[in-house]
Amino acid sequence: MASLLQSIIGQRCPRCRKGRLFLIRNPYRLKHLQSMPPECPVCKQDFVIEPGFFFGASYVSYALMVGWLIPLFLLIRFGLGLPYSTYLIVFAIALPILVPPIFRFSRTIWIHMFVKYDPVMGREVGPKR
Ligand SMILES: [Zn+2]
Repeated sequence: MASLLQSIIGQRCPRCRKGRLFLIRNPYRLKHLQSMPPECPVCKQDFVIEPGFFFGASYVSYALMVGWLIPLFLLIRFGLGLPYSTYLIVFAIALPILVPPIFRFSRTIWIHMFVKYDPVMGREVGPKR
């Protein structure tokens, strides 16, 4: 049984924590960044709960972005004492690297906020070890 954190990090279905949320694992294949199966391949949980469901993930995305931008700024500006322009350069380099995984983690966290884990669906099938 996967924990909530393992399910989010592994980008798994919130209900069974086994099925993958995204069709292509690599978030940097941008053509497939949003490609999700309509339902969980394991437990059949609907991944598109209502039209525009993942619009709300933009709030999570905002929080994740601010969550690393502010500490990064504080580290560069006050921790290392570097000029503000250094922050802009680091930001400009880091942004395209971090946006695809943050996009996916935002969707993953968002769906985990609305779909409860079902221990019956998450149970291992087969003989106990
Ligand atoms: Zn599932």
